[in-house]
Amino acid sequence: MSKPQHTELLGLCLQELTTLVENLDEPTYRARQLFDGLYRQRWHQLEQFTTLPLVLREKLRERDIAVGWPTVERKFISSDGTVRYLLAFADGESVETVWMPEGDGGEAGDGSSSGDEELQASAGWSRATICVSSQVGCAVDCKFCMTALLGLRRNLSGGEIVGQVLAVMDDRNVEIDRDRLNLVFMGQGEPFLNYDNFMQAVRLLVEGVGIPESRMTVSTSGIVSRIADFGAESVRPKLAVSLNAPTEGLRADIMPITRKWTIEKLMAALRDFPLRNRERLTFEYVLLGGVNDEVRHAREVVDLVRGLRAKVNLIALNPGPEIPFAMPAGDRVRAFQRVLTDAGIPAYIRRPRGRDIYAACGQLKHTTGLVQL
Ligand code: SAH
Ligand code: SF4
Repeated sequence: MSKPQHTELLGLCLQELTTLVENLDEPTYRARQLFDGLYRQRWHQLEQFTTLPLVLREKLRERDIAVGWPTVERKFISSDGTVRYLLAFADGESVETVWMPEGDGGEAGDGSSSGDEELQASAGWSRATICVSSQVGCAVDCKFCMTALLGLRRNLSGGEIVGQVLAVMDDRNVEIDRDRLNLVFMGQGEPFLNYDNFMQAVRLLVEGVGIPESRMTVSTSGIVSRIADFGAESVRPKLAVSLNAPTEGLRADIMPITRKWTIEKLMAALRDFPLRNRERLTFEYVLLGGVNDEVRHAREVVDLVRGLRAKVNLIALNPGPEIPFAMPAGDRVRAFQRVLTDAGIPAYIRRPRGRDIYAACGQLKHTTGLVQL
């Protein structure tokens, strides 16, 4: 008899699990038990599936059917409570997933009191955000992003995307009914270039793990062809777009994807995007010192965004080796914010999280030597 093909359960939806148990001549309700064990109970090994009879667990093992949990390879803990996980998959590839207690600061106003909040929260956390990767590396090649330096190594499967969330929830003892957990798909990779697997993961996280879609946000660099598809999904996270520059030429210099998907096409797709009740689009804008951080740029952003139900998150560049840009001056950041808010556009300065362990936006590149910045 030939060796059975290796199968991983994590990532399969209820229907796929049903097909699997039917092929094993098992009753259909075993699929529901597998689904519950995988996503709600977060069981990582077949032995833990005590709701299944021993013979069925044996049968799965004989057929080389495994759970498929990622392994925590390394864990870096920041002075601000952020934890960067290096999670490895069966083929030896790994990605980074970041735990941020007390959210990502996206709503923290000017961030000026964030130090005090952090001290108060140091004993525990009342809400937290997990930043999830969608690909190993990234092909988009934004000039300010350390992930770009990896190139695209491969897509993650739906199971590998869900597995990151489960592994971090497990390590942090998150209880879904007790704790307030947010997810941002803003780690390594471009989610809209791995669209089907990303959406499969979203559905499993909502229906299996029990995280509401309203607590999830996905960020895209502007893969315009997918924005309409995404808007048509019945279950979907909120949408954030990395704008980063207000004019075609400047954006093309720092985000070469602009040559394919221009700002004009991007804004047209966003104007057609069906926002839900009380939902807003988010624009992310990484401020690069002396490049895109002047008041005139802020005015151009106002002209672009006006008329859309949207807010802007301003992110000061997180520096890193081989990144040829400088951080913006603090007063530039505040002046930029003021232009937006004066024009009636809500604008927030994102507080950097975990910079000391290379866990902040754009720093995810498997950095293991800890350099003090
Ligand atoms: N690929 C997606 C999602 C991951 S990147 C995207 O680009 O939207 C998440 C955010 O980090 C993006 O808004 C990106 O513009 C920002 N970013 C990338 N490099 C950065 C850096 N060095 N400093 C600050 N933010 C950065
Ligand atoms: Fe990829 Fe996003 Fe980094 Fe651009 S900013 S290279 S799209 S991960």
